[in-house]
Amino acid sequence: MRVGIGTDVHPVEAGRPCWLAGLLFDDADGCAGHSDGDVAAHAACDALLSAAGLGDLGAVFGSDRPEWAGASGAALLAEVLRLLTAAGWQIGNVAVQVVANTPRLGPRRAEAEAELGAALGGAAVSVSATTTDGLGLTGRGEGRAAVATALLLPA
Ligand code: MG
Repeated sequence: MRVGIGTDVHPVEAGRPCWLAGLLFDDADGCAGHSDGDVAAHAACDALLSAAGLGDLGAVFGSDRPEWAGASGAALLAEVLRLLTAAGWQIGNVAVQVVANTPRLGPRRAEAEAELGAALGGAAVSVSATTTDGLGLTGRGEGRAAVATALLLPA
């Protein structure tokens, strides 16, 4: 078994669509970024790549691969699944924690878990959320962050 860790942070930008944990939230500004700014999906990708020893998002989907510019979090997760499957791994589970003031993830937590799990071929994904009590970039609403862990098993 192998565990991995991933972290992601993006700045909030007024007027951007808010994609988070594979879901579109109409009541919040989104995050700027090379892709859709979905910090939860990106942290999950990095945790999976970390566990598999396949590098990180920057190495796999970096600016030298412009075909991934603007890619959805779900598309990135599906590609990561393809890579780790080819490397002989299967997913045990993925846990993601979002650190942000907005949007309110709690009411859509089950939907987020289903969406991210589906992008990973039906893997077990848990999603949680917290705030930083007004402190730091997430507390001031300047950005959103996410931390993830993943467990992989030999296929
Ligand atoms: Mg990112």
